[in-house]
Amino acid sequence: MIRVAVRGSLWFGLYVAVAMFPLAFAAIGVADQRRGFWREFAAALGFVGLSMMGMQLILVARIKMVAAPFGEDALVAFHRYMGYAGTALVFAHPLLLIVLVDPSYIERIIPWTAPWAGRFGSLAILCLLGIIVTSVWRVRLRISYETWHAIHLVASAVAIIAAVVHVELINYYIDRPWKRGLWIVMSAALLGVFVWVRIIRPAIRMRHPWTVDSVVAERGGISTITFKPVNHAGFTFAPGQFGWLSMNRSPFSLTQHPFSFSSNGDDPSALQMAIKSLGDFTTTLAGIQPGTRAYIDGPHGVFSPDRNEGPGFAFIAGGVGISPIMSMLRTLAARGDRRPCHLFYGVNSLAAAAFSEEIDELASELELSVWYVVADPEPDWSGDRGFISEETLRMRLPARYQTLQYFICGPGALQDAMADALGAMAVPADRVHTEHFNFV
Ligand SMILES: Cc1cc2nc3c(=O)[nH]c(=O)nc-3n(C[C@H](O)[C@H](O)[C@H](O)COP(=O)(O)OP(=O)(O)OC[C@H]3O[C@@H](n4cnc5c(N)ncnc54)[C@H](O)[C@@H]3O)c2cc1C
Repeated sequence: MIRVAVRGSLWFGLYVAVAMFPLAFAAIGVADQRRGFWREFAAALGFVGLSMMGMQLILVARIKMVAAPFGEDALVAFHRYMGYAGTALVFAHPLLLIVLVDPSYIERIIPWTAPWAGRFGSLAILCLLGIIVTSVWRVRLRISYETWHAIHLVASAVAIIAAVVHVELINYYIDRPWKRGLWIVMSAALLGVFVWVRIIRPAIRMRHPWTVDSVVAERGGISTITFKPVNHAGFTFAPGQFGWLSMNRSPFSLTQHPFSFSSNGDDPSALQMAIKSLGDFTTTLAGIQPGTRAYIDGPHGVFSPDRNEGPGFAFIAGGVGISPIMSMLRTLAARGDRRPCHLFYGVNSLAAAAFSEEIDELASELELSVWYVVADPEPDWSGDRGFISEETLRMRLPARYQTLQYFICGPGALQDAMADALGAMAVPADRVHTEHFNFV
C-alpha cells in the first residue's frame, strides 16, 4: 500500500514538473525587462496551460504503469479537472494581456483584425471551450457518447496544433537554440504518445484478435459473451479488472467500450464479459454471432481483491454490477480460497437476479454467505426487502466487519449509499473499493 502511495506521489510530482516545465522558456536567457511583469506572466500562463493540455492525452492513454497507483476512473476524473484548469490558464493568457497590459491586444485576437498568430491562438481557445461545453452538458445537449468522443478527439488535436502554431508564429520564447531544443523535445514527446496510442498499440492488438465463442442470455437483460484467443495465449487478469472491447470494428476505431471481465481471472483460455443491454452498442451485443471477431485491450483497473488483500471480503453488487464480483467469486473458488466472503446482491426481483444458481453453488465451494436484497419481491419473500442499507450491513456482517475488504459495484445511488453507510460504520476508507460503470 505504501509503495502504491509513493508511486502515486512520484507520478503526481512528475505531472507538476512537466506542467511547469515551459517556465524554463522564460527562465533561460535574459527576458526583455521593458516587456513588464504582466506580459511575461500572461505568456507563462499560456505555456503552462498548453503543457497541461498536452498531458491530457497521457492521462487517458490507458498506460498501465501510470494508472496502477490511482485506478482508471480516478485518472479520468483528474483528466476532467485538469482540462478545466488548463483551459482556464489558456483563457487567462489573452485576458490578462487585454486587461492588464494593453487593451489594443483585442485586435490581435479577433480573427478579422488579428495576425495569423492571433487567429491560431483564438482557434485553440474556441476548441477548448467547445470541448468543455460538450463534455459538461453532453447529456443535456443529447449528444451520443460516440459523437461526443469524436468531437473531443478532433477538437483537442486541433486545439493543441493551433496553440503550437501560435507559439511558432510568435517565435519570441523559442528563438534561442536552448529554448527551441526544449520546445522540440516537448512537441516530440507529445507526438510520440499520440503515435503509440493511436497507431502502434492498435497495430499490436490487431495481431492478437479474439473470437466470440458463445453468447448466453442471463437473467435481468444480461448476456454473457465468451471470447477465445485466436493464435495467441490470451491473458490472465486480477479478478475485478476490465477490458476495452471493439467488436465488428478495427482496433484503430476511435471508440471502444469498457466491460469488466466476469470469468476466472487465472484462466487465459477464455474471457467472459457479462453485458447489460443499455444503448446502441450493448443492444447489438445480445444478438452477436459466435465466430465474430473482437479486440480486447486489457486488463485494466485496480478494483480487485488481488490488489487489496485482507482476512475476508464483503461484496456489494447491484444489477449488472455483479459482473466483476462474479469474476472475484469464480477466481477465489478456483483457487480454493477459504477466507470468509459475504455477498450482498441488490436486485429488483429474484427473477432478475443474474447468476443466482451459480452463486448458490459457489456458496458451498467458498466460505460465502449470500444476502439478496429485493426491491420488489413476491409476497412470500422472507428475505431482505428494499435496498441494501447500513441496517442490512450491520445486521448481516460479522462482529469483526471492520477488518474486511469491501468491493462495491452497481448504480450510482447504491455506491453513494454504501460509501456513506461504511463511513458511518467506521470501516477504514482504504478498505472500501468501488468500480464506477460510467467514466463520463
Ligand atoms: C470500468 C467499467 C466497467 C464496466 N463494466 C461493465 C460490465 O461488466 N457490464 C456492463 O453491462 N456494462 C459495463 N460498463 C458500462 C458499459 O461500458 C456501458 O454501458 C456501455 O459502454 C454503453 O454503451 P452503449 O453504446 O450500449 O450505450 P449508450 O447509451 O451509448 O451509453 C450509455 C452510457 O454509457 C457510457 N458509455 C457509452 N459508450 C462508452 C464508451 N465507449 N466508453 C466509456 N463509456 C461509454 C456513457 O456514460 C453513456 O452515457 C462498464 C463501464 C466501465 C467504465
